[in-house]
Amino acid sequence: MIIIVGAGVAGLTAARALSAAGYEDYLIVERARRIGGRVATETDGEFLFDVGFAVLNPAYPMVQRYLSIEALGLGYFQSGALLLHESPQRALLVDPIAHPLVALQTLAKPFPGWGDRMRTLRLRLTDGGLKKPRDDGPSTLETLQKSGFSESYIKAFFRPFFSGVFLDDELSISEELFRYQFDFFKKSRVGLPRAGMQGVVELLADPIPKEKFMLGCTVSSVHSRKVTLEGGRTLDAAAVIVAVDEGSSVALFGNQRAPETRSIVTLYYASEECPWPNRLLGLNSTGCGWVNHIAPLSKVQPSYATGKRHLMSVSGIGRGPVSYSDLSAWKSDVQADLVRLVGSEASAWTYLRHYVVDKALPKKFGRKPSGPDEIFFAGDYVENPSLQGAMQSGEFAAEEALSRVLPLKRVLQ
Ligand SMILES: Cc1cc2nc3c(=O)[nH]c(=O)nc-3n(C[C@H](O)[C@H](O)[C@H](O)COP(=O)(O)OP(=O)(O)OC[C@H]3O[C@@H](n4cnc5c(N)ncnc54)[C@H](O)[C@@H]3O)c2cc1C
Repeated sequence: MIIIVGAGVAGLTAARALSAAGYEDYLIVERARRIGGRVATETDGEFLFDVGFAVLNPAYPMVQRYLSIEALGLGYFQSGALLLHESPQRALLVDPIAHPLVALQTLAKPFPGWGDRMRTLRLRLTDGGLKKPRDDGPSTLETLQKSGFSESYIKAFFRPFFSGVFLDDELSISEELFRYQFDFFKKSRVGLPRAGMQGVVELLADPIPKEKFMLGCTVSSVHSRKVTLEGGRTLDAAAVIVAVDEGSSVALFGNQRAPETRSIVTLYYASEECPWPNRLLGLNSTGCGWVNHIAPLSKVQPSYATGKRHLMSVSGIGRGPVSYSDLSAWKSDVQADLVRLVGSEASAWTYLRHYVVDKALPKKFGRKPSGPDEIFFAGDYVENPSLQGAMQSGEFAAEEALSRVLPLKRVLQ
């Protein structure tokens, strides 16, 4: 039997890959009482709340291999962004290839300047062609500066947009990861599943029989061909796929320092009106304030709000309420930011709830731990910090585990 530790997207994809190869003798052991790991959606009956702002890019090869885009029922953002300067100043930035007519209408606007428009088009038309981004080389910020983008354009667009993707407001992530992700943005608009982001994991897990899951069971140690659960029970295995987050992996194998992670804080608001008519992400282009971006979620995916009110999400990168003296001081700061960016109507938005996701993404990636034989590692930190990276790592680990287990099985037969 192959034991998979962790039922996040990496572990679930490993299970799907084993099954696709005709190997059904596996068991998934998960600490939580639910599947999905960091991908989660909650509801209060009226709204769907993803636990931290997240979107799905249907162009990810792993998404296309293991999920039906039709069954996900995606509602799509438009390609581009609304650059929010001090209200009422706004600039519409659309992808000229995806929305050529709208792009033509914005040509007369003074911002962005012609140089930045042309450089963006060049970036848009250049194929990064990367299959496996590395975590070294120049940073994204260095590359953008070297390519000649103006500081004002980096501040207004690249910084808030890619902070939202990589949760890195310094654009310090590697240029390779930036180009890799940029290519997927070129291939498709991003979307929100009808059932919220949790819909992604539910669909991924759907073909896996219920008896394959041991939920609410924490693995306390992993040895070659043996997994021990908290409480002392042991499970024998021909191979083990360790598909946990990097911090949990370090805790299990214990020989490294705790890894660094990136965080996001997302607040949800109900509003009577949507602050802009299109399905665009609103970016804080002022370069100051707590808010990074604002998403008109129910405009993009109507199932996120079943009543008459709209659902807006407001996210900040890295700095949560803990850096404030109290929660109400933080909330009123955020609301002041919203009024500055959106206009006075934002003072009438109703705060619903917020999520602080401290360990949202690994800071470093592409680091596969070495373990004893018959132990295979998966997780976003092994490939790259995204659903694509996590799923890819799960598939690779399943292939490696099979290549070890199948010859053994033949010998035993
Ligand atoms: C707020 C947020 C927003 C994001 N936005 C996007 C986005 O827009 N687009 C995108 O592509 N990606 C996004 N990501 C990244 C993506 O969601 C993650 O990269 C991916 O879900 C990681 O999956 P994983 O399986 O590697 O890890 P995890 O989801 O962390 O799964 C690991 C599982 O292992 C379990 N586990 C840990 N230790 C043990 C143990 N000892 N015993 C048993 N079980 C254990 C955990 O409970 C967990 O279920 C976002 C992530 C977050 C948090």
